[in-house]
Amino acid sequence: MHNIGEIIEKMREGTAMGPVRVKEIKERGIPVVGTYCTFTPWELINAAGGFPVSLCSTSEKPIAAAEKHLPRNLCPLIKSSYGFALTDTCPYFHFCDMVIGETTCDGKKKMYEYLGQMRHTHVMQLPQNVDGKNSMVLWKDEILRLKSVLEATFNTDITNEKLSASIKLRNRMHRTMMEFYDLSKLPCPVLTGKEIMLVSDYLKFSFDYEEAIKLVSDLTLKLKENYDSGERRICPGAKRILITGCPMGKSLEKVADAIESRETGGIIVGFENCGNLKCSSSPVDESSDPIDAITEKYLNIPCSVMSPNTKRLELIKKYVREYRAEGVIDVILQACHTYAVESHSVRECLQEAEIPYMAAETDYSQGDTGQLATRFGAFIEMI
Ligand code: SF4
Ligand code: SF4
Repeated sequence: MHNIGEIIEKMREGTAMGPVRVKEIKERGIPVVGTYCTFTPWELINAAGGFPVSLCSTSEKPIAAAEKHLPRNLCPLIKSSYGFALTDTCPYFHFCDMVIGETTCDGKKKMYEYLGQMRHTHVMQLPQNVDGKNSMVLWKDEILRLKSVLEATFNTDITNEKLSASIKLRNRMHRTMMEFYDLSKLPCPVLTGKEIMLVSDYLKFSFDYEEAIKLVSDLTLKLKENYDSGERRICPGAKRILITGCPMGKSLEKVADAIESRETGGIIVGFENCGNLKCSSSPVDESSDPIDAITEKYLNIPCSVMSPNTKRLELIKKYVREYRAEGVIDVILQACHTYAVESHSVRECLQEAEIPYMAAETDYSQGDTGQLATRFGAFIEMI
């Protein structure tokens, strides 16, 4: 087994090779399907013989181009994702045969109308409420409609056997990530938030699932072994922070940097947001009918586009307990109304539980790095 530095370097290289691997996948005639959201049922795409590719972009670069069509006062994630498609500068979008969207927030669902002019786009109609029989019925219909669209587009049959195999694979990926995330439950953390972000990205963008599962498991094992033999990678006095809010990516590494700098003295022990704990902590039930189990898993994602979204509050408190967090930082992307509005109820709920909380609004520019560091520093000092 390699040492920790070598494993992390291998992951960095694997992520950087993502575009080359997608090109090879495409050249082998395998369908490439673009996704923008945690609500997209990954298992259906995989069972259709396709490769799901996340197109949620976190770069500032294509935003100016996007603003030719989209309002400036819109979430940077939407503008960046659209800008990459418009300028055809994202290799992942470039190789996509089709994209799948969902009616989540207003900006995203309207953006899909324009994306449809560039690629075959299928939009799933997401119910806005998790409770109640009606939402389950509506969402199951949407899952079945997507199944038919994938079968017709890629001339295949998505059998229950294929679906069950995809569910098992995806659950293994989630379990592997949960074992890795759970290292941050140790009394003295062994990971930085930036490392957690890197490993999450690696599993998403390396496109060799078996190799990725093996490497993440190796890293988890090695970190645990070193911890058990007394190694402490992180300063034991660092204040433990749970991140919640909007999805984060490369441009928002500035948040992790600001929290974890020596001056600020914090350490991120978990990300409740998309792509991390929120999607890996609840696997699809392998013992139920695969379509019903997929319907249930995806409808229950506690995203702020749902109303009400009380499950997110429970989840944050649960993670605070399990990951021994001493404070919660809510990262809100500029003009993201659903997370910005929900911030009030998160604050109230955490205040009641006497858990320190702060919200920070930001975008993909790097201009506010100093300001963020000052605010995080003041928050962490007060914990
Ligand atoms: S925050 Fe909500 S809308 Fe955005 S990617 Fe995650 S699940 Fe989808
Ligand atoms: S961060 Fe907010 S505004 Fe942006 S795509 Fe996600 S839910 Fe929509």
